[in-house]
Amino acid sequence: MTDLLKTIKAVLWPERCIFCGSPVFSSDKNTCECCKNSLPFINGKVCAACGCEKQFCGCRSSIMYYDRFTAPFYYENQVRQSIHSFKFHGRKKNAAFYASYMADCVKEKYDGEKFDFITAVPMYFADRKARGYNQSDELAEALSKKLGIEFRSVIRKIYHTDKQSGKQMIDRTGNVFGVFDVDNDLEGKSVLLVDDIRTTGSTLSECGKMLYLAGAKRVCCVSIAAAKFKKKNK
Ligand SMILES: [Zn+2]
Ligand SMILES: [Zn+2]
Repeated sequence: MTDLLKTIKAVLWPERCIFCGSPVFSSDKNTCECCKNSLPFINGKVCAACGCEKQFCGCRSSIMYYDRFTAPFYYENQVRQSIHSFKFHGRKKNAAFYASYMADCVKEKYDGEKFDFITAVPMYFADRKARGYNQSDELAEALSKKLGIEFRSVIRKIYHTDKQSGKQMIDRTGNVFGVFDVDNDLEGKSVLLVDDIRTTGSTLSECGKMLYLAGAKRVCCVSIAAAKFKKKNK
């Protein structure tokens, strides 16, 4: 496409801010300045297990079967709403936006890590068929392009589980136990594991456990967003 055509296209059909829908003319991350300035970024010193700052971390003695976790945003406000559209209203193209922030996070937090491949938390095949896509695959593939690391689909979900979002923490930790199966040729591999949101960490931990059992030597995780620990979840 010529520059002139690009300009005409940008004027007639501008990219839109993924949060408020207003036209965006000069941004590589599809957000207007106003939304960008109010995004719930995770800043400062964070917990390596839940990705949150100390005052929002509830890890204490819980064991996570992965090495580290990071995310660019807290799971709240407009990020929460946009992830909902991404998952349930077909906004697949949001993946590139999230992946650009996730890539920044990986480069900053996992500096020095050499990942053999990127993989994603899977959906049960019938659930994926009903939705038409797995949002975590979309993220992992977009991230793979941005980081230049191969994407491999190595985990399968072998049972349907109830949706996690409405459940209490105690229920959640139980209901992903034993639901994942993994390719078994991962000896010595270093894996970057992708999911959309980290709530209690039980899904990432269960996938991480299976990756270790298949021989992986390192599992680092990245999501779009991390939920702050709230005492009432206990
Ligand atoms: Zn906006
Ligand atoms: Zn923590």
